[in-house]
Amino acid sequence: MSTDRLTVLSGPAGVGKSTVVAYLRQHHPGIWHSVSVTTRPKRAGEVDGVDRHFVDGPAFARMVEADELLEHAQYAGHWYGTPRAPVEQRLRDGTPVLLEIEVQGARQVRGQMPDALLVFLAPPTWDELERRLRGRGTEPAEVIDARLATARIELAAEEEFDATVVNTSVAEAAEALVTLMHAG
Ligand code: 5GP
Repeated sequence: MSTDRLTVLSGPAGVGKSTVVAYLRQHHPGIWHSVSVTTRPKRAGEVDGVDRHFVDGPAFARMVEADELLEHAQYAGHWYGTPRAPVEQRLRDGTPVLLEIEVQGARQVRGQMPDALLVFLAPPTWDELERRLRGRGTEPAEVIDARLATARIELAAEEEFDATVVNTSVAEAAEALVTLMHAG
């Protein structure tokens, strides 16, 4: 099976991956976005089956056991995974596929599909990322410290990726990603 058209967008929490994906959905409808399975609770406005497939722990474990997930990882206390069959179907059809996942999952895709294009979305500066991670709410200092520590580890993964896109502006980052996808 050709995996030329599988692209993974990853990078640290808070860098703006989901905003870039939202832009692509609007401006590049020819790209198919994988819908992740997750055990985290649904947020206001999210639609099951559209934004995520929301499942409980046992259902997620059954999917892992049945090898139905291309990759999966635990993130901030919840499980996330990419359903394998729809991705493989789109790749067979020749549709460009984009996964927006965290770094551990990106590594697994690399292992399973060596030809996949792994793109790292980087913040313009560490200070900017820190500001975004701190500014998300009124969490206790320990929570913020843990988040910053995780972000430092995630940033260190950049060298494992095929390309880096710096998120200076959403539109520029998204268009740079599309250019990379076409180049692949
Ligand atoms: P959220 O809770 O906002 O949906 O996602 C939290 C983090 O999990 C984000 O960094 C997002 O990229 C990542 N994520 C979402 N879906 C998946 C998935 O299917 N697999 C992996 N490994 N990470 C995911």
